[in-house]
Amino acid sequence: MSTVIVGAGQAGVHLAVSLRQAGYAERIVLIGDEPALPYQRPPLSKAFLLGAATEEAIQLRPESFYPSESIDLLTGERATGIDLATACVQLASGTRIAWEHLVLATGARPRTLGVPGKSLDGVLPLRSLAHARELARRIGTARHVVVVGGGFIGLEFAAAVARDGITTTLLEGADRLMGRAVTSPVSRFFAESHRARGVEVRLGVAAAEFLGVRGRVTAVRATDGRNHPADLVVVGAGVTPDTELAARAGLPTGDGILVDETLRTADERVFAIGDCARFPSTHAGTLLRLESVQNATGQAAHVAREIVAPGRCPYQALPWFWSDQKGLRLQIAGLTHRHDETALLGDPDSGRFSVAAFRNGRLVALEAVNRPADYQAARRLLSRGAALTASDVTAPGFSLKTAAA
Ligand code: FAD
Ligand code: NAP
Repeated sequence: MSTVIVGAGQAGVHLAVSLRQAGYAERIVLIGDEPALPYQRPPLSKAFLLGAATEEAIQLRPESFYPSESIDLLTGERATGIDLATACVQLASGTRIAWEHLVLATGARPRTLGVPGKSLDGVLPLRSLAHARELARRIGTARHVVVVGGGFIGLEFAAAVARDGITTTLLEGADRLMGRAVTSPVSRFFAESHRARGVEVRLGVAAAEFLGVRGRVTAVRATDGRNHPADLVVVGAGVTPDTELAARAGLPTGDGILVDETLRTADERVFAIGDCARFPSTHAGTLLRLESVQNATGQAAHVAREIVAPGRCPYQALPWFWSDQKGLRLQIAGLTHRHDETALLGDPDSGRFSVAAFRNGRLVALEAVNRPADYQAARRLLSRGAALTASDVTAPGFSLKTAAA
């Protein structure tokens, strides 16, 4: 009797912790292919990058936690195969581990661009502690930084490095920033704010080629033909879910490991959670993958409950997100997917405002920029399914806080 968790990231560790908290007394094996103790990724593009947090400070749990909770943590070990017939996981080291429940928490890896020169020295992704260590080392001497991708990674990195004496250029292929996650008014505000800090934000322009001399990057050619000098390039062009293990075992995949509303794969003994899982979202009304700490921990807590006391309950936690871009704090409650209306609360020129997003006349999400009280109120409202319209929230005297009380 045991639960084996493949992937010792945010989701895998939270599952092991949640199982013990729920009274699970059987064996837990947590398998992670990275050499370090499990760590949080959010500080990698924020405090850690700036030298304001140490490696120890960003660990998910201290080293002593795992033996004290009888969690068998295997670091630097890759799971290479799943045998559903015998209920075993095969490790690269040759060991086979039997399971009663198997949870895939394999995460995602940076999308590699099909762009010439992508292997030049100085062109780096940002996903792991190893990447962040390397970037932190290079930032000190970089003079010309090019960021490819105007999503969360690109913007957080640009915010962290932009300063006098360094040129920072950000190329985003789409016509607005963070297009997958936020509404247009928020995209516009962030583009203006980053420009005001000296970042050259170029929209509708992608990286076409990385140019180099003696194996080192020297410039990035954009799709409009312009060359941007570069001694450091960070690629934040999205991620690809790690589905190979599941696919090789014959479990259905497709932009993620496919799970049902209880987060079970096609084999009901096997769950998938976190960045790697594509699930039917009640909030979006469609299948989707979410890439966030809340999603990883929320799904982990749900699966722990399903393992300890199988109730076949649907996973329905409200999604929420945040991004810190050096003094610009964006907090999102709910999902803006397929919204058809927005309402502005406050004034973007003041640097503090919120955007409420609606679908079919009903509030589905709220984005707060430096307005944490709006965000907290919206989380409460959305969690209890409050039916608010755009006219409600823009009516004179309306207060989100009062509505949420
Ligand atoms: P991961 O954290 O990727 O963990 C998966 C682990 O499984 C990895 O260690 C991987 O190496 C391992 N693995 C994969 N295959 C195998 C195998 N076969 N055998 C063994 N191990 C395997 N989210 C937010 O909500 N807010 C933020 O501010 C934020 N900032 C971020 C900043 C950065 C730089 C990054 C990279 C991400 C950030 N995120 C943020 C996203 C968040 O960190 C992820 O959504 C979250 O880490 C997902 O957790 P996970 O456990 O699903 O995947
Ligand atoms: P992302 O949010 O998907 O953004 C990537 C952006 O790069 C997209 O807008 C994409 O446009 C664009 N792009 C793709 N190819 C490009 C090219 N060749 N040239 C220029 N632009 C290009 O992903 P990310 O920022 O890389 O983040 C990776 C992961 O980390 C995600 O899981 C993210 O959620 C997570 N993360 C989260 C946070 C947070 O929540 N605060 C912070 C950091 C990281 P298209 O969409 O048009 O392809």
